[in-house]
This record gives sequence, C-alpha cells and structure tokens, in this order.
Amino acid sequence: MRRLRTFAEARDAAAGRLALVPTMGFLHEGHLSLIREARRMADTVLVSLFVNPLQFDRPDDLDAYPRDEERDAALAAAAGADSLFVPSVDEVYPVAPLTRVHVEGVSDAMEGLHRPGHFDGVATVVAKLLAGLRPDVACFGRKDAQQFALVRRMAADLSFPTEIRSCPTVREHDGLALSSRNVRLDPGRRREALSISAGLMAAADAVEEGERAAVVLEDVVRERLGGRIDAEYVELADAVEARPITTLDRPAFLAVAAFVGDVRLIDNVWLDPSGRTDRGIRLETESILYGGER
Ligand code: AMP
Repeated sequence: MRRLRTFAEARDAAAGRLALVPTMGFLHEGHLSLIREARRMADTVLVSLFVNPLQFDRPDDLDAYPRDEERDAALAAAAGADSLFVPSVDEVYPVAPLTRVHVEGVSDAMEGLHRPGHFDGVATVVAKLLAGLRPDVACFGRKDAQQFALVRRMAADLSFPTEIRSCPTVREHDGLALSSRNVRLDPGRRREALSISAGLMAAADAVEEGERAAVVLEDVVRERLGGRIDAEYVELADAVEARPITTLDRPAFLAVAAFVGDVRLIDNVWLDPSGRTDRGIRLETESILYGGER
C-alpha cells in the first residue's frame, strides 16, 4: 500500500482506469464498501484521507475528529485499495483559496442551513480532488445524501469527466448508521442515538404502507426521537435537487440531523413514490469502529 503525499505523486501512481474514494479517514465498513465498489470499477483504486478544514463550521468538531493513518492504511489495503492519498493541508491549500465552489439550491436547505460554509468547503475540496487527481470514477455514500446530490451537480456543472457513483448506507446490526463520529458516543448516548435510525425505519415502513405526506413521515421520525434527542431538522427532500418537498411524488430522501450529547449525527432513508425504500445495509456483527477486526 503506497502512501502518496502530493497530487503529482498520486497522478503518477495511477495506471489504467482510476477510481477515487474520498474520505476524512478513521475508516469503517461504510468506507470499505465504497472501496470494494471502486475495486469493481477500475484498475487503480486510490483512497484519499484528508480532514478538510474548509468544511468544518465548528473548530471543536475539527479538533475532535478521530485520526489514525496506520489503522486506515491496513483497512484500505485489505478492502482492495492500491494507494492512499494523504496530502497535508499545505499540499491541498498552498495558499488560502480565493476560489470557492458554491452549488446554489442544493446547498441551501438542511445541512446548508445548519452548517454555514460547510458545503462550499465540501464542493471546493471535491473539485480540487477531481481536478488534481483526474479519476475516471469517484464513489460516495448515500449516508450523506445531500452531499451526494451536491457533488453530482457540481461535477456536471463544471464538466468534470468523472463518473460520480453512490453506494448504500452501511449500518450497525442494530440500525445506527456508521460514522467515524460514533466513537465519541458513550454507551448511554450510543443507545439514545438508535432512535434516529429507528425513526427513519418507521417512516420507511409508513411509505411501504402507502403514506406519501412529508409532514406525516417527518412526524413519525420526531415521535421516535422523543424529548431526549434534539433534532436540527427532519426533512423530506427531492433526491436530485436536495430541496424540501411536501409530498413523496418523486425519488426523495428523508433526512435527519441531531445532536446526541455533543456529537452531531446525520442519517437518512431513500424513498420512492412507487413505495420502494432504500434503508441501507446492516452489518451482522459490531463494526470495526469498536475495535473488532475485519
Ligand atoms: P467521511 O469520511 O465521513 O467524509 O465519508 C467519506 C465517504 O464515505 C462519503 O462519501 C460518505 O458518504 C461515505 N460514508 C460515510 N459513512 C457511510 C456509511 N455509513 N455508509 C456508506 N457510506 C458512508
């Protein structure tokens, strides 16, 4: 497993069709599923590890973000990656960028409202990765539904020739969506956090039983969250434009952001007016976030 520190080194190491899996590291099975998908798509699989300061709206969240390059290198290699791209902040931002990428509309609701500047940071760093590494395909998780809509639109608007693919959300066996931030939840908070996915699953059940009204689906989730979890938003949104909608009359996702203690978590289910739902994939055993091997 090669560790590449500069854009030029990473470009030189690519042979044949290149797939990129952008991450902020502290890998879990969600990331590993993207790496496996990338492996199926390309000759060279490059995983980037970069905790992008530009997309953090809270300095405490940036400081607390878990990091472990050795652990990530071993996991990425086992999942089929060829190289790790681990640039320094100076490599990515040799000077403070005067150019920011802003994707209008897709950035406005939900995460965009609650994390000012976050999506401009995401769009800017992903544009830099696509421009600097020139992958043929890049894989993203549907766990970050609005981010996926944003990246897909940004790549189309800026004529990046990279194919933007999405992969399902990977969950713990009890439903909690995997997130590197989960390691900051103590056992009590970890139990509380379960009501987020439980609420989303109940809403998906309601869709399968015929419910289409956003307000009803959102209430199903809020009821499960109860008084203990403070949701920043519960919103049904158009899957392509990431704009809130009132009726499930097109492909959509139902998204939640909530603080569990001081850890901010997001999750969603993908819903279709035909009644089909995409709830993600559940692991059979506890994830590697809790120290197990895979
Ligand atoms: P992050 O390291 O959190 O920035 O995530 C890197 C990539 O992994 C993004 O495309 C995420 O959407 C994806 N990802 C994160 N968590 C999951 C998950 N539980 N299931 C599937 N993909 C995920």
